[in-house]
Amino acid sequence: MDDFSPNGLERTATAPFPFDNSYVRLPDRFFAKLAPTPVAAPALIRLNAALALHLGIDAARLETKQGVAMLAGNLVPDGADPLAMAYAGHQFGNWVPQLGDGRAILLGEVIDRDGVRRDIQLKGAGRTPFSRGGDGRAVLGPVLREYIVSEAMAALGVPTTRALAAVTTGEHVWRDLPEQGAVLTRVAGSHVRIGTFEFFANRGDVDGVRTLADYVIARHYPEAATAEQPYAALLNAVIDRVASLVARWMLIGFIHGVMNTDNMSIAGETIDYGPCAFMDFFHPATVYSSIDTHGRYAYANQPHIAHWNLSRLAGALLPLLAVERDTGIAVAQAAIDRFPAQFGKAYSAGLSAKLGLFEMREGDAELAQDLLDRMAENKADFTLTFRGLSDGDAAVRMLFGDPTAFDVWAGKWGQRLLEEKVAPEHRRAAMRAVNPAFIPRNHRVQAAITAAQTGDFSVFDEMMAVLARPYDDQPGAAVYGQPPKSEEVVHKTFCGT
Ligand code: AMP
Ligand code: MG
Repeated sequence: MDDFSPNGLERTATAPFPFDNSYVRLPDRFFAKLAPTPVAAPALIRLNAALALHLGIDAARLETKQGVAMLAGNLVPDGADPLAMAYAGHQFGNWVPQLGDGRAILLGEVIDRDGVRRDIQLKGAGRTPFSRGGDGRAVLGPVLREYIVSEAMAALGVPTTRALAAVTTGEHVWRDLPEQGAVLTRVAGSHVRIGTFEFFANRGDVDGVRTLADYVIARHYPEAATAEQPYAALLNAVIDRVASLVARWMLIGFIHGVMNTDNMSIAGETIDYGPCAFMDFFHPATVYSSIDTHGRYAYANQPHIAHWNLSRLAGALLPLLAVERDTGIAVAQAAIDRFPAQFGKAYSAGLSAKLGLFEMREGDAELAQDLLDRMAENKADFTLTFRGLSDGDAAVRMLFGDPTAFDVWAGKWGQRLLEEKVAPEHRRAAMRAVNPAFIPRNHRVQAAITAAQTGDFSVFDEMMAVLARPYDDQPGAAVYGQPPKSEEVVHKTFCGT
């Protein structure tokens, strides 16, 4: 803790953020200290008051002119220790030894109402020593996309970074065309990535790897500290969390789009929403990212890529796993080899729940796969199919190009349901709690962005209200539940930077 200062009380009375910073106490080579670069004309788009409350942040103060200046990077709030984090990463499989926060600045950390430490970061806050060729800025469309999708994920119950606020900057940012600048205030369990470990490992900085591992254990995996082999326990715990996270993505039709190792949180949160999207009709090869030309990060590839990324983490941790290199490799390999089973368990259990099965029996995996195959062949909408099954809606069959393909499957499913004595109402409630009615459909996200670009944020606000209750029926919000008409389909999302 900082020394007591006589005006300490006054500071906490006026500062909107009750900062309690830890990353800045790590060695200097972990980051570059610098303040955000001010912008011309900050204007608040939206402040997430519910999240602010949970974080112990004074939302009313953030809505003032001074508060908005803080959210735009024009004013450094009391207690902040602004810095850009150093990291590296594998991008589309290629090693990049130095990335780092090129346009994000960590203001500091707060402890939320659950006692969890959370980062407060400004994304789009100006150039840093890690900017390489970039301008350090973010533009309105991608900022809103991240706001919408990350908050939707949180409401769906999927571990994720959050959006505390979005502001426009009153400046143009040059992409292919001039675009409106914006800054997102992002909240994360931490911003440590697999690429942060790779950064130190690649430099042969074993002390750095160890210091980072100790920090991550203390912050995210305290149970590993008392394990017989704390670093092996850390690796295994990260593998479990990532396996569970990616299973959650698969079960709601989410495609991250840029699963580079620098975009994989060590805490197992979904992070770095770029060209991400939710599938409408089911197909395993679905890709939205305009830069993912080979489909590396296609829907069905996500578990394999997570496995590959975790192998990079294991490699970075190698010097900590054992004194002897061969022993370290054996420990790492054993950990990594657990991934398919861990993922499979989480995914199968999730699929069973989506089908309303309370017990896991032989043949269930095949039953679920058979449905997915028929959905893919018949271009059935992923979300509506499962929601319709939950409600016993006879119209589900009409989601299939050939409705009889559904009928055949439904016969088998019906037989399987009979094997469990579960009250229909109980089953229905359980299924509705895992099969959402509302996801941030790509064409609706695009519509909210397009309206916002003309200064109309009402579509964005309306959409946020619907997505806050994804498992509830919302009769007035039917348009948000529907897949796009053929002329509304958005095939590509851009790696909007
Ligand atoms: P991303 O693809 O958003 O995960 O970013 C990959 C790397 O590029 C990270 O190091 C970012 O900080 C950096 N980066 C992305 N956009 C910009 C930008 N406009 N200016 C500076 N750095 C950027
Ligand atoms: Mg990134």
